[in-house]
Amino acid sequence: MTQEFDAAYDVVVVGAGASGLSCAVQAAKDGLSCAILEKEQHTGGSSAFAEGHAAFESDEQLKRGITVTKDQAFNTYLDYSHWRADAPLVSRFVENAATTIVKMRDEVGAVYEDVTVTALDQPGELVTWHLPEGEVARVIELLESDARRRGVDVFLSTAATQILKDDAGKVTGLLARDDDGQKVRLGAKAVVVATGGFAANPEMLDKYTKYGIGAKMINVGGQGNTGDGITMVLAAGGTEHNSIGCLLLFPLMRDKTITSHTNCTGMQPYFWVNAEGRRFIDEVVGMSFGNAGDVTAALPGAFYWNIIDSATIRHLVEDGNEIGLGIYVRNNEKMVNLPTEIEADAADPGRTNVVSGATIEELAQNMGVDPSVLRVEVDGYNELCRAGVDTRFHKPAKFLRQVTEAPFYAIKMETGIMISMGALKIDEHMRCLDPDGRPVPGLYSVGCDAGGLFGESYALPIPGSANGFALTSGWLAADDIAEAVKAGAL
Ligand SMILES: Cc1cc2nc3c(=O)[nH]c(=O)nc-3n(C[C@H](O)[C@H](O)[C@H](O)COP(=O)(O)OP(=O)(O)OC[C@H]3O[C@@H](n4cnc5c(N)ncnc54)[C@H](O)[C@@H]3O)c2cc1C
Repeated sequence: MTQEFDAAYDVVVVGAGASGLSCAVQAAKDGLSCAILEKEQHTGGSSAFAEGHAAFESDEQLKRGITVTKDQAFNTYLDYSHWRADAPLVSRFVENAATTIVKMRDEVGAVYEDVTVTALDQPGELVTWHLPEGEVARVIELLESDARRRGVDVFLSTAATQILKDDAGKVTGLLARDDDGQKVRLGAKAVVVATGGFAANPEMLDKYTKYGIGAKMINVGGQGNTGDGITMVLAAGGTEHNSIGCLLLFPLMRDKTITSHTNCTGMQPYFWVNAEGRRFIDEVVGMSFGNAGDVTAALPGAFYWNIIDSATIRHLVEDGNEIGLGIYVRNNEKMVNLPTEIEADAADPGRTNVVSGATIEELAQNMGVDPSVLRVEVDGYNELCRAGVDTRFHKPAKFLRQVTEAPFYAIKMETGIMISMGALKIDEHMRCLDPDGRPVPGLYSVGCDAGGLFGESYALPIPGSANGFALTSGWLAADDIAEAVKAGAL
């Protein structure tokens, strides 16, 4: 049956974050006609919040004397995922990520300021986090203008709703709708789904994970990341990757920005108690915010309290934090805003996630926990601190700080979400696979919609993985589509 379209392209990309824009730019460079659809009024998605991206053996690493090898990266991805990651896809990413750095710098105009890690004390973290000037938001701006300059049609406020196929099962285009409800049918030899996962979709979070707290998770990424592409690909014959519930979670205060010093204090590896007021973990997990997020999500109520005393506040102001939050609060930054901010938070009657007390018992009451339980926990913890050995949860001695000097503060940390990753089964050419492992002709997926790089959780020992993969999978998909189009296979 012949299908009629309002316009036709070689490639239509759905979603204008890092992966989609990288794909569109490369498609244009490869001589393909291309349109990119973005349902929000602006490009960027969750990529606009990212600070940097991973690469291995890049010239930016080499010139700084950083010797992270592709071997190390490949093995870390496989080990960290318990070998659930797809080796051919991991290999393709690892082999090509350094080229992404060259493309973003020499062709798109990014300037790299540093290559670093996220947490100085996270054991085994590889130095892979390439930080561009202006963060990834600047790279997005550059990519968008490059795409427009190269003739890509950029449709903002336009949401793809359905992928179209012909009777033989080959993709022929898609349906979309703009903000006024106007429908559009676009023809395409290939559709690339780059809609950034489902972090903003509580129902999908509940469907694909066991936490059962989708509506409580605090999404700090793109509001458009509602899993549309995943739903469309599954309806068009694609299949789920076994890592579909892979999320990047982190502890976060509700109604605070990630630049807040009270929020950052809540992540410090000091004295964490659960909803009952009991210590439950080696707080050093806070050195890997992703692991700490997984721990938080699984707690009763999906939160913990971090309790500090006034001496610890002075320590944070004078000596700096033990862990920052990306570039938003730097590692070892002196937390100079903390005394004023935390006092105002505790005094604010509208805020229930910071409480204070002149005694541990008063603090417990304000937290809503049994004072006798908290008293026992504090006394036991202080004893471990005085002995300098954590015989309970084996935390390194340098993070054992007593809770003795009033006033005391408790900061409630809930479950924040940055992204979901790993939903769709693809091959190393970024082609969506059907349940039998065969490519759905003309259907591709990249970035956070695509699965295969991770297992059940995000590989934080390789910082910048999600954004590195987004940028790299985007241009790789375009190159493969160009080859297939030239060969007459699409
Ligand atoms: C605060 C924060 C910090 C982060 N820092 C880092 C970091 O430093 N390093 C790192 O590697 N990762 C980081 N990330 C993760 C980062 O967002 C991802 O790494 C990656 O960049 C996502 O790229 P993407 O293209 O897959 O998705 P996105 O950038 O989210 O793009 C998807 C786009 O698709 C659009 N869309 C959705 N549905 C439709 C539809 N139906 N039709 C049209 N458009 C649609 C969305 O609106 C969105 O604009 C961070 C995330 C957050 C929230």
